[in-house]
Amino acid sequence: MPAGLVLGVPTDLDALAASGIVSSEGIARAAQDLTRTEWIDSANGSDPNGIDDQSVGELIRARLGDEVHEKLVSPLLSGVNAGDADYLSLAAGAAQIAVAARKSPSLITALREQTTAAQHHPDAPVFHGIPVGTQTLTDLILARLTQVDVPVHLSCPVSSIAPNGSGWTVTTPLGAIAADEIILATPAQPTARLLDSIAPETADDLASVEYASAAMVSLAVSKKSLGVPLDASGFLVAQTDPLPTLTACSWASAKWAHLDDPEVAILRISAGKHGDTHALDLDDSSLVEALGVDLNTTMGITAPPIESRVTRWIDALPQYRPGHPARVAAWRAGVSDEAPGIHLAGAAYDGLGLPACIRQGRQAAADIA
Ligand SMILES: Cc1cc2nc3c(=O)[nH]c(=O)nc-3n(C[C@H](O)[C@H](O)[C@H](O)COP(=O)(O)OP(=O)(O)OC[C@H]3O[C@@H](n4cnc5c(N)ncnc54)[C@H](O)[C@@H]3O)c2cc1C
Repeated sequence: MPAGLVLGVPTDLDALAASGIVSSEGIARAAQDLTRTEWIDSANGSDPNGIDDQSVGELIRARLGDEVHEKLVSPLLSGVNAGDADYLSLAAGAAQIAVAARKSPSLITALREQTTAAQHHPDAPVFHGIPVGTQTLTDLILARLTQVDVPVHLSCPVSSIAPNGSGWTVTTPLGAIAADEIILATPAQPTARLLDSIAPETADDLASVEYASAAMVSLAVSKKSLGVPLDASGFLVAQTDPLPTLTACSWASAKWAHLDDPEVAILRISAGKHGDTHALDLDDSSLVEALGVDLNTTMGITAPPIESRVTRWIDALPQYRPGHPARVAAWRAGVSDEAPGIHLAGAAYDGLGLPACIRQGRQAAADIA
C-alpha cells in the first residue's frame, strides 16, 4: 500500500503513482480534487452532525474518481465491514473521512491537514493487538467483576424484559432478575426481540439492521512453500478483481512479532461477505481447499497447509447504511422515552471496532452512574 493512505484515501499522489495500484488516468482524476474549490456533493459543510449522510462510495467516487474508490477505499472499508463501501454510511463507517469531507471541497487537502494536526509519531505502530489473545479482555473483565462480588451468569440468554413498577424484570433460564437499569449490549436482532413489547417502534427498526457473516481461516504454511516474500502486512481483494473465495489475507506472522517463526508462516484469511455466503456454505476442509486455490493464484503457494483452523462468525458484522447515525439517535430517543433505564451499546450503534464498543460501554455505564 502506498504511504499516506487515510482509511484507503490517498493523500500522497506521488506515492500512489509509484505503487502502480491505480492507472495514470485514475491518478489524474484523483488530482482534480486538489484544485477543487466548489462543493460537488452533499458533504458541504452544512451538516456538522453527519445526519445528512451519504455512502462512502458516493463521496469517494465523486471527489476522487471510481478507480481510487474501487482499488483502495472500497477494498479496505468493504473488507473491515464484510460489506460493500458503496452502501456503507460515510458518517458511521468512515467518520474520519466524513469530518474531512465537510471541512473542504478538496478531500485530500482536508485529510492532509487532519493528519498534520494529529501529529502521529512516524514510528507509531499501524496495528494494535493483544499478544496473548483478544479473549484476555473479556477474561480480565470477568475476573475484576468477580473480585468485587458482581454476579456474572455466562451462557444465560435473557428471554424477556418487562416493567415491574419501579424498574425491570429480566427473565433468564436461572430465574427472574430485578434491575433498576439495563445495558442491552446484544446485537440488533436479539435487542429488537427484547424491546418488542416495551418499545415496539424502535424494535421494528432495529430488527431491520442487516448483518454479514464471515469465516476466518488461520493457516500455518511452510515458509519454503511461499512464492512471494512476506514483506507487508497482507493483501485485500478488490471487488473489481474478485477471487472465488478469499476476500483478504493478513500475513499474521509478518504483522505480529509474537507470531513470527523461522520455518512457518501464519496467514489469517477472511472469506464471505454480506450477500455472499458461498464460502460459509462449504464444510471446513472444502473451504481450506478453496482458499488454497486462491493462495496459489495470489502467493504462488502450492503445498497444502501444515495446520488450519476455521472460525465462522455468523451474522456478526452489522451493515451501517447511509443515515445510520440518525437511526441510532432515534433508537436511543425511543428507548429513553418508552423504556427509561434501558441503555443501548455495542457494534450495532456507534462503531463496530473494539475501541468503539468499549467507548459505548463506558458511556452507558457513565449514563447510569
Ligand atoms: C471476523 C471478525 C473480525 C473482527 N476483527 C476486528 C479487529 O481486528 N479489530 C476490531 O476492533 N474489531 C474487530 N471485529 C469487530 C468486533 O470484534 C465486534 O464488532 C465486537 O466484538 C462486537 O462487540 P459487541 O459486544 O457489540 O457484540 P458481540 O461481541 O456480538 O456480543 C454480543 C453478546 O450478546 C450475547 N447475546 C445475544 N443474545 C443474548 C440474549 N438474549 N441474552 C444474553 N446475551 C445475549 C451474545 O452471546 C454475545 O456474547 C471483528 C469482527 C469479526 C466478526
